[in-house]
Amino acid sequence: MFRNTWMEVNLDAIADNVKRIQEICKKRIIAVLKADAYGCGDSHVARAVLSVGAEMIAVSSLDEALMLRNEGYNGELLILGATEKEDVPILIKENISVAAYSKDWVHQVQTTNCKNLKIHLKIDSGMNRIGFRTLDEAKEALNILLEQECNVDGIFTHFACADDPEQTDTKKQFSKFESIVKELDYSFHWIHSDNSDATISFQDDLTNACRVGIGMYGVNSYGIELRHPISLHTKVIMVKHVAKGDRIGYGFTYEAQGDEIIATLPIGYADGLVRANQGRCVYIDGQYATIVGRICMDQVMVRLEKEVPIGTDVEIFGPHIHLEDMAKDLNTIPYEIICLISGRVTRSYIWEGKQLEENARILKSEITEVHYE
Ligand SMILES: *Cc1c(COP(=O)(O)O)cnc(C)c1O
Repeated sequence: MFRNTWMEVNLDAIADNVKRIQEICKKRIIAVLKADAYGCGDSHVARAVLSVGAEMIAVSSLDEALMLRNEGYNGELLILGATEKEDVPILIKENISVAAYSKDWVHQVQTTNCKNLKIHLKIDSGMNRIGFRTLDEAKEALNILLEQECNVDGIFTHFACADDPEQTDTKKQFSKFESIVKELDYSFHWIHSDNSDATISFQDDLTNACRVGIGMYGVNSYGIELRHPISLHTKVIMVKHVAKGDRIGYGFTYEAQGDEIIATLPIGYADGLVRANQGRCVYIDGQYATIVGRICMDQVMVRLEKEVPIGTDVEIFGPHIHLEDMAKDLNTIPYEIICLISGRVTRSYIWEGKQLEENARILKSEITEVHYE
């Protein structure tokens, strides 16, 4: 490791979380690994979730799908977001399923040879992002795609408010989805509506699979006890004593109120520690140290209560500072924090109780060996 700043991802804990979630929903698991598995490394997380029986991987785009294919993943793979008619030949060749989500998409794809293209119809049950908004639209799309000899394999929708325990909106969205699925009267192999929060809180007899993303990382809105697989770390590179009146960082936004101990850490906003973290705490060997002065691109200063040696470990979030609390402090959601941890932060993995070598690549053989039931 050339910079002492790393994100630890415990793949065993991710696997345990998937098992726990599967026990709750008792349906097929579609692991949502978009955005490089929320920044955690798609091929590593894939290995963990496949080892506990996830039956499909979903991503957001063709490049993410091809990345997994290149890593050697041969199983069910679904693109949730946009694709284009130019993508159709490679989608068919690589056996990648796509969402059909608008009239325009269907009309485009129809003009190219899309025989055998695997498709999940996306129903917009109210979120107004992508998807067919009425039964008629969905019916027309289904008929056209079947005429073109596409393989219409699934149908799905997405909830806007699955974190709301009242479930008023989820129920409304679900009943719209249910009526469309029933009216279409077609035997879809995959029927899915739940994200992580809905997977653990919403039951129904229609769907047969759940799309799990953030829950794998221990985050949910329903107080389900899950493991916390991710933490972000760095190490102290310099410690100094400053006197009352000394000022710190760009813009001199912080002034020491007396003799203070200041440590410098090699992490900054280019690592994903956004500037809004100024004033928050990090955890260093038993003490919570406040971030003082502006966060720089690559470095940050913190105020210590007591001196620590150079090289002392620092937790940005993890066992002492929970990701969810950090998100609340920053007025955001855990998803955003982990997705923004940048590519230059080393990912360090734990798998089957052992630390994997830094930046270990998954051998193709390992990921293809996974069995599909
Ligand atoms: C991101 C996403 C998910 C996963 O959501 P989580 O809240 O992370 O579980 C599921 N379905 C779709 C369509 C998504 O875009």
